[in-house]
Amino acid sequence: MDSKLPATGTTIFAIMSGLAAECDAIDLSQGYPSFNPDQALLDLITHYLNHDGNQYAPMTGVPKLRKAIAEKVAALYARQVDVDQEVTVCDGATEGLFSAIQATVHPGDEVIVFDPAYDSYAPSVTLAGGKTIHIPLTASADDLDYHIDWDRLREAINERTRLLIVNFPHNPTGVILTSEDLDTLADIVRDTGIYILSDEVYEHIVFDGQDHQSLLRHDELWERTFVISSFGKTYHSTGWKVGYCVAPAKLTAEFRKIHQWVCYTVVSPIQHALGDYLPSTPEHYAELPRFYEEKRDRFCELVANSRFTFRPANGTFFQMLDYSKISTEDDVSYAKRLTREIGVASIPISVFCAEPIASRQLRFCFAKDDAMLEEAAARLCQL
Ligand code: PMP
Ligand code: GLN
Repeated sequence: MDSKLPATGTTIFAIMSGLAAECDAIDLSQGYPSFNPDQALLDLITHYLNHDGNQYAPMTGVPKLRKAIAEKVAALYARQVDVDQEVTVCDGATEGLFSAIQATVHPGDEVIVFDPAYDSYAPSVTLAGGKTIHIPLTASADDLDYHIDWDRLREAINERTRLLIVNFPHNPTGVILTSEDLDTLADIVRDTGIYILSDEVYEHIVFDGQDHQSLLRHDELWERTFVISSFGKTYHSTGWKVGYCVAPAKLTAEFRKIHQWVCYTVVSPIQHALGDYLPSTPEHYAELPRFYEEKRDRFCELVANSRFTFRPANGTFFQMLDYSKISTEDDVSYAKRLTREIGVASIPISVFCAEPIASRQLRFCFAKDDAMLEEAAARLCQL
């Protein structure tokens, strides 16, 4: 068959989690918690499974859930959004990202991403007929200082640039944006027709007393932005695949034209349950930074005496570790070898980069209980 995605293989998440299962390794590769969602939320789902929650939800999402999302956006980011015209519940962030890309990108358009970039972006751009332009977040492979090089962004923009995809807190590096970054970004895209797709699935996992700089906060950027988030990260429920897109009415109208044909609507009982749970438990997401910051600190403390070098993540539930002092092997084979030989699975960073970089960094997910983190770290410390 003539492939539409000839350069695309199987996602690294399936490969590494598959290998971890095969080797019975501790799986710190794919980002998923080892703990369950709150029992009260599970009880609500059970309730809706037993009471009228099993038929199609509205195409745009269950109204009380959209209302709860709009209220959260107003409370956290001071943005008043229209519940009916600017909020859409989608089939995980993945579908939201895909639909926003299909809605904006025409054949021949250019889309800018920052490497290392989440692996679903570029294939979605290709399917829309667009071309992905990759800008690295670092100057060189051994540089741990990940940040946007604004000059390179300015240089990359031209009349074909249609979309800019940003992801902060950033997977895999854990880097976050500052409010000055938002202003700089606004200066750069002002007077262009560029749309922004802001992947904010880790919006509630920001550390060290910092605030999440959602693009929803910025009056000028908001006008051209699709903000995507996911309940999977916030409620320890990555397998539910329920997320949402918040975008100005004109953008949302185009987004929904795609969304309705990708999945039409999203799993009903979970939407009903989240519609009750989200507005009644603001303390859950308010406490999430502390919850994960403790896990980050624990993991960093446990690997502090290893031969890995690192900078503690500023957000997300991932920690990057650099193994330059241990091995010169390339990161994909080293990650596989660690999985087989010491039973700890991680994600190699080079697969998120277009340029073949000599990365010596691996990403470890610390959304795990202490016993798993302790055992994994003990094995890593032996290297
Ligand atoms: N974007 C990023 C940066 C992610 O890490 C993930 C992780 N799953 C997603 C999107 C996809 O989210 P979902 O599982 O809700 O589709
Ligand atoms: N976002 C998850 C991660 O970064 C993986 C989700 C997926 O498997 N596509 O680990």
